[in-house]
Amino acid sequence: MQYIVIHDTEASWDTTLKLVQDPTYVSWHYSVRSTDGLIAQHVPTKDVAWHAGNWYVNMHSIGIEHEGFAPSGATWYSEPMYRNSAKLVKYLADKYDIPLDRGHILGHDQVPGITPAGVAGMHWDPGPYWDWQHYFQLMGAPLQAHAVASSDVVRILPGFEGNVHPVTGCETATVACEPQGANFVYLRTAPSASVYQLPCAAKPSCSRPMDLALTYQLPACQPTSLAFTCWAMCPSVERRV
Ligand SMILES: [Zn+2]
Repeated sequence: MQYIVIHDTEASWDTTLKLVQDPTYVSWHYSVRSTDGLIAQHVPTKDVAWHAGNWYVNMHSIGIEHEGFAPSGATWYSEPMYRNSAKLVKYLADKYDIPLDRGHILGHDQVPGITPAGVAGMHWDPGPYWDWQHYFQLMGAPLQAHAVASSDVVRILPGFEGNVHPVTGCETATVACEPQGANFVYLRTAPSASVYQLPCAAKPSCSRPMDLALTYQLPACQPTSLAFTCWAMCPSVERRV
């Protein structure tokens, strides 16, 4: 067992229970209810369930569904749901020796398609409105922002509630979604006047260093962009991007 895959059902609780009992439908190990975090188990963890759209991942994972609709995000992803789900993940990770990190506790939206043709059909749940930072905090394994000089990989922890970005296609392709806190930042490779602008007084702070990486610039302070300077101001960040 290597992974735990986090999903949302795109269905109400009643429908979820009907679907998982339908022998012609797919399967998963656990469901978590939105209102109170109730957990139901449908498949023993020793058995493979059909939930990830990737048979290798299915063979090596436990699938946990969460009642809700990804486009509505926080409306469904309640605190009792986060808390009980985090407890369940922590328990399972301990039992099966699965590391509590984002390389092993996956969103369905991270699971790769097994062929190039299959990629477009992969699911995007639990989506941009699942609060991974909070979820890992509840597991007692908070995510760490980092950048390592020897690697091109950085982790940015942008926060959640105040981290609002344009998202389209929740209901209809190209149509803007209702603004709400999200779990991502857009990757930028060059300064841009259209990205977030902070007043000069809002100096970057090392308490939330990654908030300021990549997407922020302070044109009133330095016309060229402080996006990179922000990194250098924080001792935990060693690398420019
Ligand atoms: Zn899914």
